[in-house]
Amino acid sequence: MCEITILSGKGGTGKTSVTAALAQIAGNAVFSDCDVDASDLHLLLTPEIKEEHEFAGGRKAWINPAKCISCGICQDACRFDAIHKINGHAFYVNPFQCEGCRLCERICPASAITSSEPMNNRWFVSETRFGTMVHARMAPGEENSGKLVTAVREKARELAEDSGYDYIINDGPPGIGCPVIASLTGVNKVLMVIEPTKSGLHDMERLSELTRKFGIRTYALINKADLHPGLTASVSNRLKELEISCLGEIPFDENFVKAMVSGQTILEYVPDSASSLIIREAWNALVMDVN
Ligand code: SF4
Ligand code: SF4
Repeated sequence: MCEITILSGKGGTGKTSVTAALAQIAGNAVFSDCDVDASDLHLLLTPEIKEEHEFAGGRKAWINPAKCISCGICQDACRFDAIHKINGHAFYVNPFQCEGCRLCERICPASAITSSEPMNNRWFVSETRFGTMVHARMAPGEENSGKLVTAVREKARELAEDSGYDYIINDGPPGIGCPVIASLTGVNKVLMVIEPTKSGLHDMERLSELTRKFGIRTYALINKADLHPGLTASVSNRLKELEISCLGEIPFDENFVKAMVSGQTILEYVPDSASSLIIREAWNALVMDVN
């Protein structure tokens, strides 16, 4: 079995459109949306939810006003400035600022503070027209997205192994933070979707450094390549220096947006277009390369 994560340095590069197209081509795959903070693969694949599971968010403190004696010790001690005074005397914890360190809980002389991990996040197993998908939804302001990505991937792996699938395709989160690392560990291949912009070049450097540290075979696809031929050449040259195979250069194609609006992949919307052909060839090169 081969597990592939599709990454980009930021949103809007076309990563999800490419992932959905690859999910369609692969046929024999379980796919997952690891961009749990802003999942959007479901918009293209219209999943029918078969299983729904709770997942704990970050720990949050809570003050019982009936017990609080308004001494202010917790407010002075909180390093995250999460405890505030309202109405002149009552104290409360702002859940968006609380980091769940539990210091206040330990030092409160009135035992007025408790903390818990709210079960606000959800993850799902769904069926789509291209096969099984595992995805998640984070509640607003919730944390633990790295752990949620790991949970999503573990379920996708379990399903792929149980059903004898050849591939797992992960739509990765943007950036290089904790959720990205959670979407990378242990995968066989990474495909970076890069835009020919200065920030795209910079993102490519950061991502390739990360995948090199993890020792993961890395590939690239340049999207909207004709928007800035000079920067496309710079990206292409840098990829050669980094010994990263560029599997294709997709021209700017407004059909990506039209396909997304109509809830289709680019291969469904315009199957014979240059973009669709390049993505098909990229998939073939990606799975044929066994190095
Ligand atoms: S330390 Fe306890 S009693 Fe003192 S203000 Fe905070 S919650 Fe209230
Ligand atoms: S748990 Fe930590 S971060 Fe949250 S309110 Fe208490 S001291 Fe502040």
